[in-house]
Amino acid sequence: MLELVGLKAEIDGKPILKGVDLVIRPGEVHAVMGPNASGKSTLSKVITGHPDYVVTGGDVRLDGVSLLEMAPEERARAGVFLSFQHPVEIPGVATSVFLKAAVNAVRKARGQDELDAAAFLRLAREKMKLVEMDKELLHRSLNEGFSGGEKKRNEILQMALLEPRVAILDEPDSGLDVDALRIVASGVEALRTPERAILVITHYQRLLDHLKPDFTHVFLDGRIVRSGGPELALEVETRGYQWVRDAEATA
Ligand code: ADP
Ligand code: MG
Repeated sequence: MLELVGLKAEIDGKPILKGVDLVIRPGEVHAVMGPNASGKSTLSKVITGHPDYVVTGGDVRLDGVSLLEMAPEERARAGVFLSFQHPVEIPGVATSVFLKAAVNAVRKARGQDELDAAAFLRLAREKMKLVEMDKELLHRSLNEGFSGGEKKRNEILQMALLEPRVAILDEPDSGLDVDALRIVASGVEALRTPERAILVITHYQRLLDHLKPDFTHVFLDGRIVRSGGPELALEVETRGYQWVRDAEATA
C-alpha cells in the first residue's frame, strides 16, 4: 500500500535521501533504525510533504497513487499521519481545539459527520486511556510546557483519534523513561490493525521489545542498506552501526 520507489530528496541543494525503496503492506509494522543525521526524519517529512524538502527523484505512492503532487493536508486526508520527533508547541491553541479540528477535517474528507464539542471530548477521553494521558492536558496549549513523555503520548493520542491508514512515527521513544516507553509502545501496538501500515523510526531496540516489527531496516547515509526481521534490530543493538558501515564499504 505505501510504496517508496527510488526516492531521492535534498534540502538547500544538499542530497539527503539517495534512493529509498520500501514497500509496506496493510497490517505490517516496519522499523527503520539508523545513526544520527542519516536522513530518517527527512524520510518521514518527505512522505508527509514537508515544504522544505525537494524531491529530486523517485516516487511515494499510496495504493498506487503518487502522493508527490499532493499538498501535506491532502496527504493527511488520504490517511497519512506523522508523529513528529520534536512535536511543535503552539501557545494559545488548546490541545482539545487542535485535535478536534484535525479529527473533523479527516472525518469530513471521509464523508462522516463532524463531531461536536461534547462528542469529541467523549472520544478523546476514551482514547487517552490508551496512552494513560492526563485529561488536564486537553485544556492546555498544544504541547506548551508538556514533558517529553506528555508530548509523545499526545502524538499517539492524535494517531488514535485520526485512525490513519499509514502511520509514520519518528522516534516515538526519544526522551522517554522506561515506563513511558512501555506505555507509548503498547499504545501503538493497540493501534495495529490489519488495514493499517506503520513505519516506526527508532534508535533503540528497547521500543521494539514492546512493539514487534514485522520487518527491520537499517538506514545509512540516505538509503536502506539492510533489511530483515526483528532479529536485525537486536544485531544492531549489540554490534552498532559501524558493522553495517564496514560491510557496506567492502561490498
Ligand atoms: P536523522 O533523523 O536520521 O537524525 P535528519 O533527516 O534529521 O536525520 O537529517 C539528515 C541530514 O539532513 C542532516 O545532516 C541534517 O543536518 C540535514 N537536514 C535536515 N533538515 C534540514 C534543514 N531543515 N536544513 C538543513 N539541513 C537539514
Ligand atoms: Mg531524526
